[in-house]
Amino acid sequence: PSGGNLYKRVLLKVSGEALMGDGEYGTDPKTVNAIAADVRDVFATGVQVCLVIGGGNIFRGIAAAARGMDRAQGDYAGMLATVINALTMQNALEHAGVPTRVMSAIQMSSVAEPYIRRRALRHMEKGRLVIFAAGTGNPFFTTDTAAALRAAETDCDALLKGTQVDGVYSADPRKDPNAKRYEELTYLDVLANDLNVMDASAISLARENKLPILVFNIHAPGAFAKVMRGEGPFTRIV
Ligand code: UDP
Repeated sequence: PSGGNLYKRVLLKVSGEALMGDGEYGTDPKTVNAIAADVRDVFATGVQVCLVIGGGNIFRGIAAAARGMDRAQGDYAGMLATVINALTMQNALEHAGVPTRVMSAIQMSSVAEPYIRRRALRHMEKGRLVIFAAGTGNPFFTTDTAAALRAAETDCDALLKGTQVDGVYSADPRKDPNAKRYEELTYLDVLANDLNVMDASAISLARENKLPILVFNIHAPGAFAKVMRGEGPFTRIV
């Protein structure tokens, strides 16, 4: 791996909420551009990067179901929300000079390529950043699971989860001053203690495929590049 990076190919998962900035809904252009700049800096060191973006800033199936919508129907709407975020991120990355392709798990040929694994690999080999949209394409899943799935099937060396805090804590660090950050956890620690990192299916998939998960603060400027060199703060799940 070049540039002091620990990994050659990584998948970065960014939640939809991370794109909201201080807003309560939708996307904040400044925040999107800041994340795009960090991704560009890592991409520029020669790392093959792919992205999964959530949709929670726009639509969540489970929240819609709580208000009376059919769960599966709401989940399809949620997957479409991830496509909106993928196009927004693609725009920001291309403005930052990164060649990108959006590949959607739900066919939408006017705006995105269909997801085809071997074609995704080819894009990465040719120096294009691939954004995987529409989650897994199935209701009752999350984009965390989509991230673990795509990372595993495209042979990524690590799954990086960019969140609002700089790792996994024993309690919510924004509420509890005694909360401590874990340097390293096992997949089973996360599952057995029901730690709020990624859902259980994502953790299980990562565990089966020996895919390390690194949890870090996506809003700390340059943090993505630092994590790639093994510089903290972050929590590693192995
Ligand atoms: N979703 C789904 N299947 C998937 C991925 C996502 O049904 O494989 C739907 C689900 O309704 C979810 C929404 O898309 O609530 C947005 O994704 P997610 O909640 O994972 O986004 P994030 O929390 O990362 O912003």
